[in-house]
Amino acid sequence: MQKTENGLIVIACDFTGIEWDEHIPMIEGHRGSVICLEALKMAIDGMADASEAFDCTLCLRHTETGSKAWRHPDPPATANPHAIVCEDCIRQADRAFSKDPDTDYVRRIPPTDRWR
Ligand SMILES: [Zn+2]
Repeated sequence: MQKTENGLIVIACDFTGIEWDEHIPMIEGHRGSVICLEALKMAIDGMADASEAFDCTLCLRHTETGSKAWRHPDPPATANPHAIVCEDCIRQADRAFSKDPDTDYVRRIPPTDRWR
């Protein structure tokens, strides 16, 4: 997400509220949404069947009940309280971070036919 502090645009993870410092690994979604690597790790460990339909914060896609998703169980005050990420975005971020030469992140979700 983007917020303005003292007239400056600050980019922060929607899920953790952590502000981008040009070093913390982050991936941008639609409409300025952002997920940081720490949030992705929590999402991989914590994703579960969604109890209600939702619109993914990162890809904006509407997703029905029963699809896997993740939201921060206790969102920090600086995070987007409505942030939720769909399984596809979690898989896509898992792959993208593993290819980022600026991190030593190792892919945690095994590739599938859809997500090589
Ligand atoms: Zn998504």
